[in-house]
Amino acid sequence: MGNKEMIEHLKRIGYLKTKSVENSLLAVDRALFVPEKYKELSYTERALPIGDGATISAPSIVAFMLEKMEIEKGMKVLEIGTGSGYNAALIAELTGEKGRVITVEKNNEVLEYAKGNIAKLGKKYKIEFVYGDGTLGYEKEAPYDRVMVTAALPSLKEDHPLIKQLKKDGKLIAPVGSFYQNLVVYDKKKNRFESVLPVMFVPLRGKEGFKE
Ligand code: SAH
Repeated sequence: MGNKEMIEHLKRIGYLKTKSVENSLLAVDRALFVPEKYKELSYTERALPIGDGATISAPSIVAFMLEKMEIEKGMKVLEIGTGSGYNAALIAELTGEKGRVITVEKNNEVLEYAKGNIAKLGKKYKIEFVYGDGTLGYEKEAPYDRVMVTAALPSLKEDHPLIKQLKKDGKLIAPVGSFYQNLVVYDKKKNRFESVLPVMFVPLRGKEGFKE
C-alpha cells in the first residue's frame, strides 16, 4: 500500500471529497512524517506516535478536518500542535504561494522534527514555525482565516483567544472535551458551534487548555 492507495481509501470511505484536498495529500507523502520504526504503517488508518506523547493523526481525520475548513489559496491559517508537520505541509499546499501558515508547538524537539520532515519535501512553503503555548493562539499574526487545533481543548467558548484571533468570517476546528471528545467546527459569521465527529486526540496543555 502506498500514498495513492491511502488516498483512494479515504475517497471510498467518504472522508476525502474535494480535488484540492486530494491534490494536497498527493503532494505530501505521509511516510516522510512517520518515524522509522513505524514506516510500514505509514499509509494505514492509524494515528502513530512521534515521540514525547505526540502523534501524527490518522489519515481519515486529517482529511476530514481539512475538508471541513474549506481552505482556499491565499488564506492565512494558524495551526496549533505542529507534531510531525504533516498537517502544516498539507495546509501550505492548500493556501499556495500567496497564503501563509503559522504553526505553534510547545515541544521544541517535536518542532525541530517537523521542520526536518517538511524540508524533505524540498519545497519553498510559506510556513512559520512558532515555539510556544498555542492555547493562547498567536496574537502577532492575527487575525486568521482559519484556525486548526490538532490537540484537544477541555472546552471552547466565544471568549477563547483562538476564537478572538479569527477574522469576522473565519472558521476554526478543534477536538473538544475531557473524557469524550468531539471535533467542533466554529463559524464566526454565523456564531455557531457544531459537533461533527467523535474523536480521540492528545490533550492541548497550556494556559487556556488542560493543566500542565
Ligand atoms: N498536527 C500534527 C499532530 C499534532 S499532535 C501532525 O500533523 O502531525 C498534538 C501536538 O500538540 C503535539 O505535538 C503536542 O506537543 C502539541 N501540543 C500540546 N499542547 C500544546 C500547546 N499548548 N501549544 C502547542 N502545541 C501543543
